[in-house]
Amino acid sequence: MTTNEQLKARADRVFVGTYARYPAAMIRGEGCRLWDADGREYLDFLSGIAVCALGHCHPAVTAAICRQAGELVHVSNLYYTEPQTQLAELLVGNSFADKVFLANSGAEANEAAIKLARIHAGDGRYQIISLAGSFHGRTLATVAATGQAKFHKGFEPLPDGFVHAPFGDLAALEELIGDRTCAILCEPLQGEGGVRPLETAYLKGIRELCDRFGLLLIFDEVQTGIGRTGTLFAHQQLGIQPDIMTVAKALGNGLPIGAMMTTDSVAAAFVPGTHASTFGGNPVAAAAAVASLQTILADGFLTAVQRRGQYFQQQLQKLTESYPGLVDGVRGMGLILGLVLTEKGVALGSEIVSKMFARGFLCNFAGNAALRFVPPLIVSDGEIDRFVNALADLLAKY
Ligand SMILES: *Cc1c(COP(=O)(O)O)cnc(C)c1O
Repeated sequence: MTTNEQLKARADRVFVGTYARYPAAMIRGEGCRLWDADGREYLDFLSGIAVCALGHCHPAVTAAICRQAGELVHVSNLYYTEPQTQLAELLVGNSFADKVFLANSGAEANEAAIKLARIHAGDGRYQIISLAGSFHGRTLATVAATGQAKFHKGFEPLPDGFVHAPFGDLAALEELIGDRTCAILCEPLQGEGGVRPLETAYLKGIRELCDRFGLLLIFDEVQTGIGRTGTLFAHQQLGIQPDIMTVAKALGNGLPIGAMMTTDSVAAAFVPGTHASTFGGNPVAAAAAVASLQTILADGFLTAVQRRGQYFQQQLQKLTESYPGLVDGVRGMGLILGLVLTEKGVALGSEIVSKMFARGFLCNFAGNAALRFVPPLIVSDGEIDRFVNALADLLAKY
């Protein structure tokens, strides 16, 4: 049997060093739990970074993957397939969108959105305004759209046509709108940026600016979409509708798939040949996404997510009261919650995550600001209690 240490040694020899990994080789998952090669159990409140919304190896998703893998794994998008069509029907039937483009990741879904916004403008306008603190992916264009300098460093020159507005400042955003602007891109809640929700009035203001200046509003719901916030998409509880939306992470509950969704009139700018993907809408990934969406859309599921989110938030709030020196508050929506740390807490953020890992609890530190919790949406109150108690126990040691 391979141990954690053995696999780490082998992997560190052969991989490009893009990841600072914890010293565990995960070999099995079930629900909110994971097991490593040494037989240690973890309570997973990271879910593969907001991916495994239904938990690990959800039976409906596993069955759908196995069934589809035995029938047809891949054909090109030169042909129709049932799973991807069913997926697009589900996405259209449960959102503002009329049309869908399927991709393989969040960055790719955003690339499709960026290209669509440019070609839709059709008059030489190409500039997209995004927000400071945002995260939109790691391809060159999506890195350029990302409003955090640490992701740009060393990769210049970045593609032209991206500017960043300071977070929360509508007047500064309006200042940036010019002759070349075609769209505003933002996350309704910044995930990587430290679980930072945008105030509803701010988002409404952004929508109004888009309407006034003839710009498209693009919501990046790659992290907030697919039930994470207690509604299928975060913007559905804010009363603001985008022109384009991207989703990915939880869409396939672990299989790589993303989607760019839009209205009929905007979609018309994409015609045969303007954009494509070899794997996008792959039948196996699409079948996993259909099974995931059907489960999340079943009666009562999202209501339960809202209730669990409230319960988790209340429990985290108690930590704010107990440890004011380290914890500055709780923020988030549904089951994407952040424990905002004080200056002293921020200095300890990575250490807290490592110590939680060593105790068998997975979470991470986002945006150098908050401990981020994105447990599977099926998490139980008991699991929330176990996690919060472990965290309280650790915070008490500082
Ligand atoms: C994770 C993430 C992305 C990038 O998704 P990938 O699948 O890693 O390419 C884009 N936008 C947001 C908001 C994300 O959280």
